[in-house]
Amino acid sequence: MPKEKTDYLVIGSGIAGLAFAIKAAQYGKVIVLTKGKSQETATSFAQGGIAAAIGKMDNPQTHMKDTLKAGAGLCDKKAVEILVNEGIERVQELIDWGIKFTRDETGELDLSKEGGHSKHRILHAHDYTGQEIQKLLIKLSKKNKNIIIRENHMIVDLITEHHFYTEEKNKIKTCFGAYVLDEENGDIYPIIANFTFLATGGAGRIYSYTTNPAVNTGDGVAIAYRAGCRIRNLEFIQFHPTALYFKTDPAFLISEVVRGYGAKLRLKNGSLFMHKYHELKELAPRDIVARAIDLELKKYGDDFVYLDITEKKGSDLKKRFPLIFNTLKDKFNIDMSKDFIPVIPAAHYLCGGVLVNHNAETDLKRLYAAGETASTGVHGANRLASNSLLEGLVFSHRAVMHSLTIKEKLQLEDIKENIPEWNKTGAENLDEWILIRHDWKEIQDIMWDYVGIVRSTVRLERALNRIDAIYREIRKFYDKTIITRPLLELRNIALTAQIIIRSCLERKESRGLHFSTNFPENTKPSRHDTIIEPMLYKESLKKTKRN
Ligand SMILES: Cc1cc2nc3c(=O)[nH]c(=O)nc-3n(C[C@H](O)[C@H](O)[C@H](O)COP(=O)(O)OP(=O)(O)OC[C@H]3O[C@@H](n4cnc5c(N)ncnc54)[C@H](O)[C@@H]3O)c2cc1C
Repeated sequence: MPKEKTDYLVIGSGIAGLAFAIKAAQYGKVIVLTKGKSQETATSFAQGGIAAAIGKMDNPQTHMKDTLKAGAGLCDKKAVEILVNEGIERVQELIDWGIKFTRDETGELDLSKEGGHSKHRILHAHDYTGQEIQKLLIKLSKKNKNIIIRENHMIVDLITEHHFYTEEKNKIKTCFGAYVLDEENGDIYPIIANFTFLATGGAGRIYSYTTNPAVNTGDGVAIAYRAGCRIRNLEFIQFHPTALYFKTDPAFLISEVVRGYGAKLRLKNGSLFMHKYHELKELAPRDIVARAIDLELKKYGDDFVYLDITEKKGSDLKKRFPLIFNTLKDKFNIDMSKDFIPVIPAAHYLCGGVLVNHNAETDLKRLYAAGETASTGVHGANRLASNSLLEGLVFSHRAVMHSLTIKEKLQLEDIKENIPEWNKTGAENLDEWILIRHDWKEIQDIMWDYVGIVRSTVRLERALNRIDAIYREIRKFYDKTIITRPLLELRNIALTAQIIIRSCLERKESRGLHFSTNFPENTKPSRHDTIIEPMLYKESLKKTKRN
C-alpha cells in the first residue's frame, strides 16, 4: 500500500471532525478517516440540542455561570469564557450553513431548557438535532473538492519521531500523521500530514450499559496516551439518568428535555423521590439525578425507576418529541402520554480526555484534539447539558485558526520516505476471536460494577488489578496476531479503562461526577486536575518494519 501525504489528517466524522474539515479545506487538502460509516457517530444521536446564549433574555455571562456551577469548581474559566462567547458565532455559522432549528409560530428560534440551565437556551431540531447536524456536515464535506472521506478506516497509532529517529523520551515532540487500517482489505499504511486532528469521540462502550454508539471506544485517549500526550480528569464519566430500561444496544436515551417539559421520576411503587435530593428536583444536575436513582434502586432492590409525562397530551408530545414518541411506541409499545417509561442511568459522556490548551493543541506539535475525546477544561467535574456539541464546534474552529499561524511546513516527501512500513510478517490469525469478545465483556462488567456512579477505593483497586491482567494478555495477543478493528478497539478500551481507574484513585475526594464512599466530602478548595502522564513505552512502535 503506498504511503500517502496530506495537509490535514482528520480522525473522526462527528461534529468536531467534520466542522474542522470543512474549515481546513479552505487552506489545503483534507483526508477524513472514520472507522465506521460517516454518520455512525455520537453526534448523530444527540437529541436535546446545542446550548448558546442567543435568547433575548439570556447572555453569555449567565451561560458561563451555569457551566461553572455544573463543573463543580474544576472548569477552566478561560475555556468556558471562550465557549460561551464564541459559541454564539459558531451556532450562527451553523444556521448560515443551512441547519434548520425548530422555530415557533412567529419564526423565532424555539429555545428549550435543560437541567442546570437557568435560561431557555437550547437550540434544537425537534428531538433529532444531532441527525440534522450530522447530515448537513456530511453533505457539505462531500461537496467539497478538498475533502476526501474514507469510511471503514481506523487509526492504529499516531506517527511520532520515535518511529524513525529515536526512542528517547525527550525527543518525542511532533505528530507526523498516523498508521491506518483499511478494514476492507486489512492493509495498514501510513498517512503523513502537516497537521493531524483527533476527533474520535467518547468512550461509553467501556461500560456494559451506555447510550453511545459502537464507535465510541476511547480510541483517541488511548492513541494519544501511547504517543506521548497527557490525559486529564478521566474520572469524570457522566451517567445519563434516563436511558430506557430495555436491553437495546446502545441504550435508547430519553432526553433531559423531557424532564424540562415536566416529566417526573417515580419509584416502581409510584412515589416521587427527587424532592429528597435537590431543590430543582427532576431538573437537578445530571450527576445528582443519576446518583439519586442509583441510591433508590439499591434501597428497594429495583431494576429501574419510571419517568412520568402522562400529564401532557399525546398530540403535544408527538409534536415536541417525534423521535422519542415514535420510537417508544413503535419499538417498545410504550405510549408516553399514557404509560410510565422505565429508565435507568447509563454511561453517556466523557468529561475529561486528551489534555489540550485553548487552541486545541495537545502535548505533541501538529496534533490537535477536540470534541469528546479532548479535555479543553470547559466541563470541569460535570458537563452542563448540551454544551458538548457547542464545544466541538468552538474548539475545532480554534484548531484550524491556530494551524494557520504555523508557517513552517513539514518536508512531507522526506518524512514519507523515512516512515517505516507496517510489518505484516509473522502475523497469524490465531482463531481466538472468542477471547476478544470475552475480554471486552469482562472489562465492561468490571467498569459497570466497580467504576460506576458510586465508587470506593477497594472496588477501584480490585478493578485495576483485573484490568491490568486483561491488558497484559491483550498486548501479548496483539503482538502475535493480525490486526483487526475489534482487536484494536479492545486494546484501546482496556487502556482507557486503566486510565479512568487510575484517575479515580488519584482523586481523594468526591466532586461532580466522581463520588467515592471513602472520600465523600468535596475537600479541596482550589482547582486541581488529575493528570496521567503519557505511556511512552514503545507500544506504538510495535509492528512497524523498524521494530
Ligand atoms: C444519545 C446521545 C445524546 C446526546 N445528546 C446531546 C445533546 O443533545 N447535546 C449535546 O451537546 N451533546 C449531546 N450528546 C453528546 C454529543 O453528541 C457528543 O459529545 C458529540 O457529538 C461528540 O462529537 P465528536 O465529534 O467528538 O465525536 P463523535 O460524534 O462520537 O464522532 C467520533 C468519530 O470518530 C471516529 N473514530 C473513533 N475512533 C476512531 C479511530 N480509531 N479511527 C478512525 N475513526 C475513529 C468514529 O468513527 C466517529 O466518526 C449526546 C450523546 C449521546 C450518545
